[in-house]
Amino acid sequence: MKTIVWFRNDLRLHDHPALKKASECGEVLPVFILPDHTSVTATDWWLYESLKFLQQQLLELGTPLTILKGNPSKRLSILALETQADSLFFNGQIDPVSRKQEMDLLESESLSKVDIQRFEPNMLLDPNRLKTGAGQPYKVFGAFWKSLQQQTIPWPLAAPTSLTSWIQVYPGTIPLEQSGLRSPIDWDASLEEAWTPGETASFEQWGTFRDKKLTRYDTNRDFPAINGTSRLSGYLASGNMSIRSLWHAVRRAQEEGIAPQPEPFLRQLAWREFSYYQLFHFPHITERPLRSEFLHFPWRDDPEGLIAWKKGKTGYPLVDAGMRELWETGTIHNRVRMVVASFLIKHLLIDWRIGSEWFRETLVDYDVANNTLGWQWVAGSGFDAAPYFRIFNPTMQSKKFDKNGAYIRRWVPELDALPDSFLHEPHRAPEETLAEAGVVLGDTYPLPIVDHAAARARALEAYALIKGKKEGST
Ligand SMILES: Cc1cc2nc3c(=O)[nH]c(=O)nc-3n(C[C@H](O)[C@H](O)[C@H](O)COP(=O)(O)OP(=O)(O)OC[C@H]3O[C@@H](n4cnc5c(N)ncnc54)[C@H](O)[C@@H]3O)c2cc1C
Repeated sequence: MKTIVWFRNDLRLHDHPALKKASECGEVLPVFILPDHTSVTATDWWLYESLKFLQQQLLELGTPLTILKGNPSKRLSILALETQADSLFFNGQIDPVSRKQEMDLLESESLSKVDIQRFEPNMLLDPNRLKTGAGQPYKVFGAFWKSLQQQTIPWPLAAPTSLTSWIQVYPGTIPLEQSGLRSPIDWDASLEEAWTPGETASFEQWGTFRDKKLTRYDTNRDFPAINGTSRLSGYLASGNMSIRSLWHAVRRAQEEGIAPQPEPFLRQLAWREFSYYQLFHFPHITERPLRSEFLHFPWRDDPEGLIAWKKGKTGYPLVDAGMRELWETGTIHNRVRMVVASFLIKHLLIDWRIGSEWFRETLVDYDVANNTLGWQWVAGSGFDAAPYFRIFNPTMQSKKFDKNGAYIRRWVPELDALPDSFLHEPHRAPEETLAEAGVVLGDTYPLPIVDHAAARARALEAYALIKGKKEGST
């Protein structure tokens, strides 16, 4: 049999159900279809590097990767026709855009003679598997997690050891250098310093985390100056690593005594699963709040505030450190993600979808499910979200989670010489302290763009307005 394997957010060889099955059935033509772009994002850089690596891996197994661009259904129809393929296999994805692509493919008349097979998505379990006693999708994480823990997670599949293809070079293939995935500005350089995308690097990253950090994960995970989390999100989002293989690798580390109590880490993997699960069952949530009263939220238009937030110039050092870390490295520590998101939504009253869009452009681990649910959690508009009245105080968060200011000093170096006692709120420092540290507020570092107490009161007023409102009510 001659099978096209459509690679998507699964840029790896291990635990790739579509590739594995195709390799067992006969010859394989692996293909990736580039999205049509208007601007280059940080995930495009990750994608470029992952494709480069995958191309090499596939060649070593005996087949090249074909790269095309445009509408997947059209491109795959032409490819199947021109290469006379018998079948087309792919792993499913659960987000609305990808599901529409899959429907188009399954309904395409020009593919009616091709055997199309969809395999499981990069999730621990089929999202239809877990339901409440009443047969409804779970809306509360605690119950979902409890139910997940009682399930057997399927074993990951091994990578194929060799591949053969009936097409050596498809004439329409696009050279990776012409993919349009590289940024015209010199932004990639700092991403390159921070990350090595690809399947092999994902295993190396996991190995380092397992050996050096997993046992102290729960103690260290909330402190941004400590490199205490796995930093696997980019690998999981691109599918360089399969979530099932990670789950089982953690369990193995537990059995081997390397990490006797890995539940706090597994719980975070379950949060990822819960985000995917919710996006699958409630596909409108990328655009609309899960709680309908939030449709009435009085968002503010604040272009200046938005620019200050994006540039890390809000006058709140922890917020600024996070936003600068994001621009430089394509990531932000989870604790600080919550703080910067909360600042945009609650201190500036800027619509979470605007923040989510900025994260889509700048995160290397951008993941539509995790990002959407992360923002809705912070806004309070998710089902199992932070209550709306929980308004992070960025200064208190800073004092608690970056006590000696190591994280702030790294990303906001103009505050480096301030003593710890004033680092978290430079605007409260006496004139002489500022002068000694070379800080000129409003010049070398901004004054706070909003006053915390006033912003908090304004946010609570805004939330009071929507309390009790439902969709359609005014
Ligand atoms: C506003 C906001 C936006 C976010 N956007 C994204 C995003 O686009 N992509 C993304 O992968 N994560 C996102 N997260 C979740 C979380 O911040 C990152 O997954 C985490 O910081 C990645 O670092 P790590 O791999 O070292 O995580 P670790 O702490 O080592 O966790 C291991 C893995 O578990 C998953 N995970 C951890 N925390 C969460 C969480 N709260 N929700 C869902 N999954 C989680 C991730 O896949 C992560 O790689 C967002 C969180 C917030 C508050």
